[in-house]
Amino acid sequence: MTPASSESRLTSELQSLLARPIWSQRFSRRLELRFRRDAAERSTRLTRGTFTLALLILAVYLLIDGLTVQRLTDPVFAILVAGIGGSLTLIGAAGSYVPHWHHSLMRLLPFIMLVVNLAMVAAAGRCLTLGLPPPTELLVLQLINIQLLSGMSFRTTFPVALTTTAALILIEIMNGSGSISSIQDISFVIFALLTCSLGSFLSEQVMRRSWLQGRLLDHLANHDELTGLYNRHALIQRAEVLMQKAAHEHCAVSVILCDIDFFKRLNDRRGHLAGDEALRDVSEVLHQAAARRGTDIAARWGGEEFLLVLYDCDSDAAVARAEAARQHIERLLIPNPDAANGYLTMSFGCAAQEAGADLALNALVGAADTALYRAKSEGRNRTCVQGVAQQTTQTPSPDAINSAMQ
Ligand code: GH3
Ligand code: MG
Ligand code: MG
Repeated sequence: MTPASSESRLTSELQSLLARPIWSQRFSRRLELRFRRDAAERSTRLTRGTFTLALLILAVYLLIDGLTVQRLTDPVFAILVAGIGGSLTLIGAAGSYVPHWHHSLMRLLPFIMLVVNLAMVAAAGRCLTLGLPPPTELLVLQLINIQLLSGMSFRTTFPVALTTTAALILIEIMNGSGSISSIQDISFVIFALLTCSLGSFLSEQVMRRSWLQGRLLDHLANHDELTGLYNRHALIQRAEVLMQKAAHEHCAVSVILCDIDFFKRLNDRRGHLAGDEALRDVSEVLHQAAARRGTDIAARWGGEEFLLVLYDCDSDAAVARAEAARQHIERLLIPNPDAANGYLTMSFGCAAQEAGADLALNALVGAADTALYRAKSEGRNRTCVQGVAQQTTQTPSPDAINSAMQ
């Protein structure tokens, strides 16, 4: 699939999803994976938010119920509050403040919550065997759990909330067997489950929608519509990061600037639609040339000019890569009736930042442009290379300063 066709497929997929009502958007597998990865990054903030909310609910409940000394000395209650409070603190703190942990932690969270919920059910069962009434706090803690889970993916966490709620209700029925307070507790927890679930489902759908809009905007802002390659803006951003990385790791970076030969004549003879088709074919070759290693970038620099940035690639390797692409394009046999041999060709200019140097992207592109100009003036359909002088930042000697001031 050409970069252009995969780009336009993604754009129309995003647009059609945005056109659907919010409750019926269904992501493809590729989008779903991407969404989950991005959502995991965002959920650090969510964890902090839901954790705070959970503590708030607990505090309000304790205030209403009355925090008596007798209640604090109740061992079942103390174990529950310490255990659940401890887990929440750990999850909240780790998820919020340890950046490299939160990805795996977010994936583990539903399982951790499942274990916490099962512990609650077990504690309630234990109360029954000891002949004690299970504390109503369990139901409130269950509400907190649902609330906490609702900050996460609805599809993964809803079954956990549902199962443990059902288990708690069962225990409550066995214990309270029809008393008014028992019916109140059960209806309270069912109501909590339903409202939290609906809120959780809708908020997740809204989150998905805003993610889709962001993806679409990001896509349109960074890609060239005709060829599907990165545009100049996206290339500059990525290339600067790549060059900094290369300077840091002491490895070479090369750029290749290339331009279609006599493209105006192709447009004039065969029309602009044929010209556009030729641009897409050429882009596909350049995209493949960059995609081979996964570290390189190909972009449409403007008009019929393209730029490749090659990581860990010195000038000899860059010339070899440019030559391979040039020959590949020549073999496409795209008719260009007024060109030298009747087919479309391209000229290439290369420049490299050798290992250990620290140049600006502009300097490198400028040198590649000089090389491209030479390739054009020497007859086109060829590759030239241009050396780049390293900018030195040596401090001038006092003598040099004096003589410059005279
Ligand atoms: P040279 O070998 O010196 O590069 O000659 P050239 O004809 O390729 O260069 P020139 O700069 O004279 O012409 C470039 C042409 O590229 C002119 C413009 O119409 C065409 N062009 C730029 N962008 C597009 C595009 O998106 N689609 C089409 N079909 N043509 C385009
Ligand atoms: Mg040209
Ligand atoms: Mg040009």
